[in-house]
Amino acid sequence: MFATQYLERPPAAPPATSPAAGKGSGFAFSERSLAELRGVHADLVKVVRRALELSGQDFAVIDGLRTLDEQKRLVESGASRTMDSRHLTGHAVDLAPCVNGKLRWEWEPIWRVAEAVRAAAREAGVALVWGAAWDVVLTDTTDAPQEVSADYAARRRSAGRSVFLDGPHFELSRTAYPA
Ligand SMILES: [Zn+2]
Repeated sequence: MFATQYLERPPAAPPATSPAAGKGSGFAFSERSLAELRGVHADLVKVVRRALELSGQDFAVIDGLRTLDEQKRLVESGASRTMDSRHLTGHAVDLAPCVNGKLRWEWEPIWRVAEAVRAAAREAGVALVWGAAWDVVLTDTTDAPQEVSADYAARRRSAGRSVFLDGPHFELSRTAYPA
């Protein structure tokens, strides 16, 4: 569903902007984005909506609830690695940055989206996990998103394990929100 070469590009410079707390971004979700939020857990919908208000980076909801057939096709194509996806239960969303009206699979805008999502989730007290740092609860972290992701990748590599970076993916923590 997204190009691996973008997602596996190593982190570079920090984002130039960060969400301005308390100020409306002026961004609004398209009908397509709103449709993707249908069937998604209410706490996650609340976080995603608030994130767009806080975000200095426009983004779209490109996936939410998936059927078993959709998930099978994604695993077959290599876009997803698991049939135990949180998308099947409405506990996950994929958020893609929009730059000049186009969806972009590039890390810098993805990090800006992650920063806004983390801020919104913290405000709401919702524990979230991010697809670019699977082994930590994003809302428990304080470093810049690119550092959180780089630390995850370094831990995996030093353990001799594969690194799967899915920057657009956010899901409710399995500990706080068992399916
Ligand atoms: Zn996803």
